[in-house]
Amino acid sequence: MKDMIIIGAGPGGLTAAIYGMRAGLDLLVIEKYSPGGQVVNTYEVENYPGFVDPIPGWELVSAMENQARRLNAEIVSAEVASISKNSTDNSFTVTMADGAIQQSKTVIVASGASYRNLNVPGEKEYLGRGVSYCATCDGAFYKDRVTAVVGGGDTALEEALFLTKFSKKVYLVHRRDQFRGQKILQDRVLGSDKIEPVYSSVVTSINGETGVQSFTAKNVKTEEEKTITVDGVFIFIGFIPNTEFMDTSLLNEQGEVLVNMEMATSIPGMYAIGDVRAHSKRQIVMACADGATAVLNAYEYLQQLYC
Ligand code: NAP
Repeated sequence: MKDMIIIGAGPGGLTAAIYGMRAGLDLLVIEKYSPGGQVVNTYEVENYPGFVDPIPGWELVSAMENQARRLNAEIVSAEVASISKNSTDNSFTVTMADGAIQQSKTVIVASGASYRNLNVPGEKEYLGRGVSYCATCDGAFYKDRVTAVVGGGDTALEEALFLTKFSKKVYLVHRRDQFRGQKILQDRVLGSDKIEPVYSSVVTSINGETGVQSFTAKNVKTEEEKTITVDGVFIFIGFIPNTEFMDTSLLNEQGEVLVNMEMATSIPGMYAIGDVRAHSKRQIVMACADGATAVLNAYEYLQQLYC
């Protein structure tokens, strides 16, 4: 039986692995995709301390993965289907989608979050043919073309700025008349001669024939609808926590895992960190801090229960 299973290998999970290995724990990291999490798709990270210049997201998280591997953390690729606690010996059974099981004394859920959909006509139909959720991945396809970004948070503002490297014009469509994102990003967006904000507007459809040719947006104040010609639509309207394998009694109304300041859930020995937990500010540095907090508390739990 493992001392600890960490579900997810983004910044939070990898930090937990680093702290866990240094504490001498026998641990296993289970990752659905390849290690890295959402940061892999971030063009540049400017607010992770220790780097004077912005660092590409993939480079930052690769360094975290390499650091965990240097300490001999075992990272395997599998999809977790459920977690259950055995009341007789306090162990956890983690069951994978293929039926395989792993057992551990503690579990840290670090499964992150996935992008939210707009759920408008054309979004699914043109996915990969003009609709994208990753400017870093797809931005270069829009050289000298016109794009739209939907959203008003940090992600939308950052990705709109990134798209100006390629697109000749970027419409930034936001449902309110004020962006939510950080002031420094708002200033950069409003200072860009390539970005045109479309305020107080919701996208009602994404239109085209074989690929995206335009989108239609309704002004929520005037009810006026207009169709704007674009070659691509990038959607950044927030994230939904990845908790489909968890008992709903552990979640709040938004589907986030409820934890205390020790990152502990209501089940002793189970912790949740990073974007999947309630009240997360969704910052890389905070996911890392959560990882360290959870492992230090899990270590104490193990000492009390098993030593
Ligand atoms: P977010 O902060 O939740 O913002 C989502 C945006 O999408 C909001 O502007 C929201 O509008 C809009 N929205 C939500 N649902 C919508 C819908 N159905 N239709 C149209 N618009 C919709 O998400 P995020 O920008 O992805 O950021 C997530 C977290 O990561 C945040 O805590 C952010 O600070 C953090 N983050 C930080 C950095 C950084 O520090 N460099 C970079 C990226 C992300 P309203 O404003 O009206 O609610």
